[in-house]
Amino acid sequence: MELAVNQHYIFLELRQRLQSGLLVIRSDGAADKPEVSVSSGGSSLKICVSECEYEVKLTPGVTVVEGSCQKSPEVNDDGLHVRLRLKVDQYSEASDSVIEHLKVQEKYDFLCQSCGAVLLKDRVFRRVLPLPNGNWNTLVDDWCCHPDPFANKKLLPQKEDCLLGDTYFLLTQDSGCDLTLAQQVDSPHVNSGSNQHSEKTPGHRNVGVFCKKCSAVLGEAVTTDVVKFYITEVVVKSEDKQCTTIQHRLQFLERALAGRLFELSSAQSTFRFSIQTPGGKAMIMLWLLNTDALIASFCEKARSSDSLISAADRHLDEHQSCLALCAVKVLYLPCTPSKHHEAVDAWEKDISVHPLALPQSTCEELLELLTACTSSLPASLRSMNSYQVAYLRR
Ligand SMILES: [Zn+2]
Repeated sequence: MELAVNQHYIFLELRQRLQSGLLVIRSDGAADKPEVSVSSGGSSLKICVSECEYEVKLTPGVTVVEGSCQKSPEVNDDGLHVRLRLKVDQYSEASDSVIEHLKVQEKYDFLCQSCGAVLLKDRVFRRVLPLPNGNWNTLVDDWCCHPDPFANKKLLPQKEDCLLGDTYFLLTQDSGCDLTLAQQVDSPHVNSGSNQHSEKTPGHRNVGVFCKKCSAVLGEAVTTDVVKFYITEVVVKSEDKQCTTIQHRLQFLERALAGRLFELSSAQSTFRFSIQTPGGKAMIMLWLLNTDALIASFCEKARSSDSLISAADRHLDEHQSCLALCAVKVLYLPCTPSKHHEAVDAWEKDISVHPLALPQSTCEELLELLTACTSSLPASLRSMNSYQVAYLRR
């Protein structure tokens, strides 16, 4: 078996609702049968492999049932599997996305996620309203025998409004925007997606909005007065949160999206999403499998680059410990024309698949994130029914 360079040495997945867990300890060639002992002490799980100890701290309300750890009788292709039972007194659910947090009559700053530049300052909203969901226009298309009567009647925010889409905010621009935002008209060929709906507005040109300081893409100009910011590109800071440390880009993207997928699935019972460009070109088919996972992982002792563990959680000595983190588990397929053609086609025709638009560069980053996660998993957990498996931490 080939080992990916970044593959986890130890990987733990706990399912809160199933009250069960699976621990996989990779076996490398010669050390085929490592001495392994797993023990639970209240709120933590201790894993001893040969001389080294690894400790997973569990979230409050979740404990491993003592004596429930059962090693599989044989070492699997990708290592030793240990199954265990959980006792869950309190479900651990991480915070919601920024969309659920915005309130009226509070002061917010909108910052560029990439460089931290303030884009909009001291915004106070009189109304914070959700927009009809992503399939709304498609549904109208299907119901009407003539062209969409609402196509030219966009819902636009007025001054002091914040309208919330699935993945974006619609806001009015103010005089300060000239100093912080740059605009550029997309070349038409970039915008020609496979989705036929985007072609129903001939002459529609996408005007990209960028950070003037660092040129990062932020969203689009909907009209000359209204700007669309994607939740994956801006940080919304409220007055009482003074902390403005810039999060690592992929970490921010992962959390922003995981939180939003969780909300959309619980509010609308939607589990299949088509991640697409603003022009409607499908990039990733994403199937939300469950939202109750807690995951933890370790790289082998003294191997440092582990994308799932932040530097603060890592101790490069005999004892490593980390926190089990809430995650959503997804199945996905990249929409590559050469591969998965039938599956992509079926999804595009299926009206129950929820479209989620993100800037093209963000779709690419997301695919990078998912692919890196998949390749770090134990081999037996990497795919399911021809889909690839990944986790997004919330
Ligand atoms: Zn910037």
